[in-house]
Amino acid sequence: MNFIGIDLGGTKIEGALLDQNHTILERRRVPTPRDYNGIVRAIRDMVEHIGYGDCTLGVGTPGTTGPDGLITNSNTRAIRGMPLLRDLREATGMDIRMGNDADCFTAAEAGMGAGAGFETVFGVIMGTGVGGGLAVRGHMVLGRAGGAGEWGHSILHPGGNMCWCGQRGCVETYISGPALERRWEQETGSRMSVPDIVSAEPPGFTIWRDAIVSDFGLALSGVVQVVDPDIIVLGGGLSNIPFLYDMGAAALHQNTLQGGTPILRNMLGDSAGVVGAALLGAETW
Ligand SMILES: [Zn+2]
Repeated sequence: MNFIGIDLGGTKIEGALLDQNHTILERRRVPTPRDYNGIVRAIRDMVEHIGYGDCTLGVGTPGTTGPDGLITNSNTRAIRGMPLLRDLREATGMDIRMGNDADCFTAAEAGMGAGAGFETVFGVIMGTGVGGGLAVRGHMVLGRAGGAGEWGHSILHPGGNMCWCGQRGCVETYISGPALERRWEQETGSRMSVPDIVSAEPPGFTIWRDAIVSDFGLALSGVVQVVDPDIIVLGGGLSNIPFLYDMGAAALHQNTLQGGTPILRNMLGDSAGVVGAALLGAETW
């Protein structure tokens, strides 16, 4: 049995074929077509190109597939509200397991990355948005509406920042990449990228950092109180911020009864999406 993983992104569709030892046998990427039917066709063609022998298929998408089978909360406009799972099953004739990018990240890190060997792994993506996924004993927990692990839309500050999801005060509006840059601009009046702020530590850095650390610890504490994971793995662009691993972890531990939950950097980097999609699909075998 081989495992096909497809990572559908806003700009590219990436595919990989893994064997039973999780070795990558094939890898391919194409630009994401703008229209929905084009996306379905491109994924079908990708599956035909890279698959051989008996295969399972897992697909990572922006957004989640709701109980009605339609894609919600996707930043890729063409697939919003569309029955992507049904249409891909029809186009490929294969059974498919679908998860969002954070689910795929978590599946990859839990299966063969920083979370390998741990029973309960909570994967965190902090980048343009804030997402998360939960793996328990090597299986992804997706939830009734595909929203398991979505801590980015928990309310951190009631009545706070407006979020694109319609709520106010979501975690994502405080500790995503764009949110960090907005905070810097509000505080100092200047525009800088997160990597530049972190490496240069300009005047104002300490106040900015401490507020982020505090929000990060408080936001993750809700997850830890409920799930009590063995480990938290960080991914996405902000996972390169060193202070999340010491000061951020300390802030988290202060806010939980359990304390001490390790926070580790991801090991698979950009490969996690496509590898995780393949591992997600492998669960259907
Ligand atoms: Zn939100």
